[in-house]
Amino acid sequence: MVAGRSDSYNPREIKSFLEEAFSRIDLDISGRSVLVKPNLLASKAPDRAVTTHPDFLRALIELLVDHSCTVCLGDSPGYESLDRVLRNGGYAEMLREHGVQVVYFTGEVVKKGRGVSPYRDFLFGEDPDRYETVINVPKLKTHSMMGMTLGVKNTFGFIRGFAKGRWHLRAGRDRDLFASILVDIHRLVSPTVTVLDGVVGMCGDGPSNGDPVACGVVAVSRDAFALDAFIEARFCPGVTLPVTACAARHGLVPPFEVIDLGLPPVPARFPMPRASDTDWNLPRPIKRLLRDFLTKKPKADPAACRLCGICAEVCPANAIHLGERFPLFDYQACIRCYCCQEMCPHGAIRT
Ligand code: SF4
Ligand code: SF4
Repeated sequence: MVAGRSDSYNPREIKSFLEEAFSRIDLDISGRSVLVKPNLLASKAPDRAVTTHPDFLRALIELLVDHSCTVCLGDSPGYESLDRVLRNGGYAEMLREHGVQVVYFTGEVVKKGRGVSPYRDFLFGEDPDRYETVINVPKLKTHSMMGMTLGVKNTFGFIRGFAKGRWHLRAGRDRDLFASILVDIHRLVSPTVTVLDGVVGMCGDGPSNGDPVACGVVAVSRDAFALDAFIEARFCPGVTLPVTACAARHGLVPPFEVIDLGLPPVPARFPMPRASDTDWNLPRPIKRLLRDFLTKKPKADPAACRLCGICAEVCPANAIHLGERFPLFDYQACIRCYCCQEMCPHGAIRT
């Protein structure tokens, strides 16, 4: 793994870092058909740090084009169309300029595998095996349900829009089960390389409504389990988050070495989401027993809510009904997935 520092989204600097990093890990991309999978969760301005920054992608895409790659880019946003996210997030023109083909993850591709979760069939919106190289480009962010979202969680985007909710529903309040599902999906995608945009990350109530924080980190690894373990150890030391814990239990986190090209110190303040006050390190049976008490309930802030109804639309448990002034929650039905908080465009859901 290669990790280093970039204090700005200067595409020239990032491109030269990536070129060096790819060469250090012996990654040959020349002439390949490449699928780039960024985090395009929602149509937010780049400085909100919700999505992989367009200039970070520009740097990567220019490098791929220089190496005569055929470049495609795709994702499945939360509830909006991919076109809207690309337009409002400042990507569309850059992609056109570089001749990048946009791939809509709206197909029906059944991927099968015996993994670590109880499930064997996963319906993907796009087949990663159609490409010679898949480049996973996550954003460094906190995540109310899973603690952080990094390389492994980013591949959940291969599941089509609202079908993601069905996986949340199957896992219910069991974060360890959801982690095992994420691990299986990631292994079916099996990206060639993961390139982390941590130049500006998100802390607090991520992955959508947290606070942008300058982290200055760029990391490149052939193994996202290793990359996630490395980043988590720096940003939330002493805690093993559910995805990495699951991967480690199944021997999926390889021993790794980090080629340090000038990593910056971790920001002095990097608060985790309020919903994750849960003590992640408690033994699993105790966590299960105390789950209802440990996990925070989502609540609407009437002053911020605009009654748009998106939270009710995305709630996989059908636990939200719109009242006259703000949404009402059925806490018996609620599975504490925080999709409502993640998708609320006005940051009106708190935990
Ligand atoms: S998504 Fe947010 S703004 Fe829209 S109804 Fe729900 S809480 Fe209110
Ligand atoms: S109310 Fe929110 S946290 Fe609860 S199940 Fe619905 S989307 Fe998930």
